[in-house]
Amino acid sequence: MGNALYNALVSDRKQHPERINATVGRVREALGIVCPAKADVICDKHLKNAVKGRNGISVLTDKLAFKLARALAKELSGSEAKRFAALINDSEISTQEAIDLHEKYKIPVSHLEKDLVFCRAQGAWLYDTLGNKYLDMDSNYSATNLGNENGEIAIGLMNQARQLIATKEDRVHIPRARFLQVIQPMFPKELTQFYWQNSGGEAVDKSLKMAKAYTKQKGVIALKNGFHGRTHGAVAVTYNIKYRAPFFLDQQDWVYFVEPNDDEAIAKLMKQGRAKIVIMEPVQSEEAGVRPLKPGFVKKVRALCDKYNGALICDEVQTGFGRCAARPGQWWASQAYGVVPDIMAIGKSFGGGYPVTAVVTNSKVSAAMKPGYDGSTFGGNPMAMVAAYIATRQMVEKDITSNVVARSKQFRSGLEKLKKQFPGLIGDIRGIGLMIGFDLPSKEAVAELQSHLKDNGVHSSLSTGNAVRLLPPLIISTKEAAFTLKAIANGLGRIG
Ligand code: PLP
Repeated sequence: MGNALYNALVSDRKQHPERINATVGRVREALGIVCPAKADVICDKHLKNAVKGRNGISVLTDKLAFKLARALAKELSGSEAKRFAALINDSEISTQEAIDLHEKYKIPVSHLEKDLVFCRAQGAWLYDTLGNKYLDMDSNYSATNLGNENGEIAIGLMNQARQLIATKEDRVHIPRARFLQVIQPMFPKELTQFYWQNSGGEAVDKSLKMAKAYTKQKGVIALKNGFHGRTHGAVAVTYNIKYRAPFFLDQQDWVYFVEPNDDEAIAKLMKQGRAKIVIMEPVQSEEAGVRPLKPGFVKKVRALCDKYNGALICDEVQTGFGRCAARPGQWWASQAYGVVPDIMAIGKSFGGGYPVTAVVTNSKVSAAMKPGYDGSTFGGNPMAMVAAYIATRQMVEKDITSNVVARSKQFRSGLEKLKKQFPGLIGDIRGIGLMIGFDLPSKEAVAELQSHLKDNGVHSSLSTGNAVRLLPPLIISTKEAAFTLKAIANGLGRIG
């Protein structure tokens, strides 16, 4: 056991170049979990000579780790030693040290989520640094639809990193050539041209540029309560004023916001010649609390874009790759609406969790872009293309859209039952596929439910006002969906 303990405490650079030696803080934390009664005594005896380093964190020297491993092999039982080594292998830095470092160095553009620190995953389950497991209900905002770890992607990325790690978007490389042979059939037949990017916001930004180049007009119509990302252009077309105003993006003369489902307002703007471009999330998620647009509206907008030679951009960054499948084989929410956009922005789960996004468009829009109009150092790099190749192949092979349809029914009927069981608590239930939202009486009730869910082993961080949003990994099983519904039932029963 001494060897296994030493190997956990000391980073072997050949095997784990990504790791450091364990910190004293983490040794204390792990011993506190494994054997609380003896933890302090062991630490006081063996770690008193540890020297504080940068940021006040003490990292074990190899020598100290050797001595500690020998001592722990004697003082811990076999099962305690095994659990301790597993915890250190999960993380060699303590939870508090990790939080402190984030707090010290983060530019506060967002609130730091620090109540759970995840360090490992298996399928749809996440494990935190304290050894607890939680069923994932947000899929890293729909970026890990295939689950939170992926052995094939790990091997593919390792192989590619050894071969050729980076190649610009405008240079030919083999992983992209490999991927280009197989990716198009996932899209409607009209959408044949791809421009690779690294984040959803970038894909939205570039979609807007392409739409402007194609329509030769700057006007863009966006929907109230829509969300399109955090780059300059994406924020400009995102409705919530709190995201736009600090950057003067509420003072644009090219963006027009209309109510969702108000096609007359769009028709008027187009008729007046003020805008020809429409951007929409087919199911408004982030800011609207999961609100599918009305099918008639989406079809009318499509017809208006045709009439005025405009461009319909569907932001499928979150809704895509099967998240909103209403039928097996529907990879895009726009398919559920029977509409083909001129431009589609895709991202999130494209690379199975590895960052890769794209603008996908038809040959007409594509022809409006000329060399020099855009460029990207990392867009469609070899690593990204390998991840996307493996992830999209897995999505098809696992037939995840069929699972989405089946689990969606299970969630929807389970929630309808709970609505009856807890009258006055659950209000409207909405969504398509595995993008599901339901209303509770208040924001506070949502926070209370989420806290109960956490106590019951379900990680559900997503909410919008008084709506709870569920975005489980698309591989979620019948049993796991039932586990979630049971946890929701328990939580609702405890809401005061
Ligand atoms: N578009 C939509 C609909 C999104 O939900 C998001 C992110 O949540 C984005 C764009 C931005 O994606 P990213 O965070 O990868 O830039």
